[in-house]
Amino acid sequence: MMKKHNFYAGPSILPQEVIAATADAVKNFSNTGLSVLEVSHRSKEFQAVVDEAVVLFKELLQIPEGYSVLFLGGGASSQFCMAPYNLMKGKTAYLNTGAWATKAIKEAKFFGEVVEVASSKDKNFTYIPTGYTVPSDVDYLHVTTNNTIYGTELHQDLDVNVPMVADMSSDIFSRPIDIKKYVCIYGGAQKNLAPAGLTFVIIKDDALGQVDRAIPTMLDYRTHIKKGSMFNTPPVMNIFTALETLRWIKKIGGVAEMQRRAKEKAALLYAEVDRNKLFKGTVEKKDRSYMNICFVMEEKYAALENAFLEFASLKGMVGIKGHRSVGGFRASCYNAMPLESVKALIECMKAFEAKN
Ligand SMILES: *Cc1c(COP(=O)(O)O)cnc(C)c1O
Repeated sequence: MMKKHNFYAGPSILPQEVIAATADAVKNFSNTGLSVLEVSHRSKEFQAVVDEAVVLFKELLQIPEGYSVLFLGGGASSQFCMAPYNLMKGKTAYLNTGAWATKAIKEAKFFGEVVEVASSKDKNFTYIPTGYTVPSDVDYLHVTTNNTIYGTELHQDLDVNVPMVADMSSDIFSRPIDIKKYVCIYGGAQKNLAPAGLTFVIIKDDALGQVDRAIPTMLDYRTHIKKGSMFNTPPVMNIFTALETLRWIKKIGGVAEMQRRAKEKAALLYAEVDRNKLFKGTVEKKDRSYMNICFVMEEKYAALENAFLEFASLKGMVGIKGHRSVGGFRASCYNAMPLESVKALIECMKAFEAKN
């Protein structure tokens, strides 16, 4: 079969060796003679997987004392309600940078007053707003650090006067994070860590227990902290795969190396988008995402959009069709994306330009 270059936005590319290790464990998990699909989450072999995954998660992101790492189900979308349920006393602030942020805002409104401090909706979320003020009496500011659909990214942790809650679904482990600025960081694992069905949460322990409302057991972070993510059955295989990804990140040089690679890949691809007469980028240059690289045809060549998709697919490019709310193309270049695949896409763009 022809070599495929996987640019899907999510679920998305995982390192080949992580997939191979998972395939091995599906046949024989940790020398138990059983598949990872059929072992008890309470077995000592699986407990060892969870324990190591938490340790590596904390080590790679340099998570200080006083924070817990949880592995849950429900996706990032469940965290849109779980975070305010647990953390919002009265009033919170949200930065609206796209479709996911908008969904998070909608859920927070179930629990109190939500101040939308700024929004880039006026320009179809093609930039990250700046120059807004965050009211000092809010419980937290919520940010979406990488906007998977529109291709914008906060490249640094913001400096604000209140603690932050962040949706880091699509850029976790792609750069160092100053964890102490956050009370909660969450995300779906399917962009940069593991197969779909696993949700990670980094939560500051002493931020909990401060709201007046009663919280249903499953939606209370304290339940999962107390039970070490084993209150109910967690997604066993996905946690195994997450551990393999974390080991891979560590072996390769940690998040600093992931960031170096992400910048290198993105710089090459954006340079080609800017150089190639057929294409143009869709977002403000300073806010361009390293993870999701969005571009469209120049107006003059708009009629060639489908032809390029076809051309690229014949050369093994998969998943580059843009999200319907942006159109054009989106090349997602998560941590596992090899430089070689980015170069192959660039060659493809050059070859298509030469033909047209
Ligand atoms: C994919 C994504 C989500 C949704 O994640 P689910 O796990 O499908 O709920 C939320 N936020 C961001 C930034 C995403 O990229």
